[in-house]
Amino acid sequence: MNEAEFIRSGKAKDIYRRPDGDIIFVFTDRVTAFDGIKKADYKGKGETCCKLSCFWFEKLQAEGIKTHFKECIAPNMLVAEEVSILPVEVIARNFLYGSLWKRYKKGEIDIGSDFLVQEEKKEGMPLTKSFLEFTTKFERVDRPITEEEIIEKGWMDRSEIEHIKKETRRIGDIMKSYLIPRGIILADFKLEYGRSKEDGAIILADEVGTPDVCRFWDKDAHEQRGEILSLDKDVFREGKGNLSEVYLEVCNRIMAQ
Ligand code: ADP
Ligand code: MG
Repeated sequence: MNEAEFIRSGKAKDIYRRPDGDIIFVFTDRVTAFDGIKKADYKGKGETCCKLSCFWFEKLQAEGIKTHFKECIAPNMLVAEEVSILPVEVIARNFLYGSLWKRYKKGEIDIGSDFLVQEEKKEGMPLTKSFLEFTTKFERVDRPITEEEIIEKGWMDRSEIEHIKKETRRIGDIMKSYLIPRGIILADFKLEYGRSKEDGAIILADEVGTPDVCRFWDKDAHEQRGEILSLDKDVFREGKGNLSEVYLEVCNRIMAQ
């Protein structure tokens, strides 16, 4: 860490570059929501998110998924290969919830009837399969973007888009099947990918499977009472719980044997 050069601070992580070119992420206790308007610090949050990211990166790599992850070097620090982050994020949704529900309700998005069950369409209903979408990452106000526009802009070609969609579905399947026996529903999640500076290959980057980038719901509350009991950043967004405690609870469930 001593010789590492500070690069910048993101909303939740600080980034350093080591002399060997790898980068170090320091997971801080910062939390932000609503495009950075709501901010706070929650003790232990950085360690919890770092621990979970390392856990999932190791699991995904063991399943053959290519990622930027190298090693965890402290409770709140991980080392990764530096990549060129793609200017889009991938969001995978298993429920009609959050901004997808808001856009659907206003008639701003056509989800496609094969994703929707036949009954009344309401907030929080399950989708028949994962609905994937791309959103921009470096624009002043980030927005959903079509695959055609991504290709037009030269950010990815068709086969690269298909590749990251396939990887995202696989990652979702791995996480879902691990979480269900631990009493957690994976409602949706966000991933970032980047291009390896060595060979241009697109690999998984940033963080994965943390309550900052996933919506986790308590399975019993959902199944028994039809209730959405959030175990993720929604507790902060909506002021419905202590983030440190909720993140720790989710981490303990995930780490439990
Ligand atoms: P943000 O405010 O963008 O959410 P974070 O606090 O999450 O930032 O810090 C992580 C930043 O580092 C993000 O901008 C992310 O795109 C970027 N990043 C993630 N993985 C890599 C990597 N392997 N190489 C370079 N940049 C990365
Ligand atoms: Mg981030």
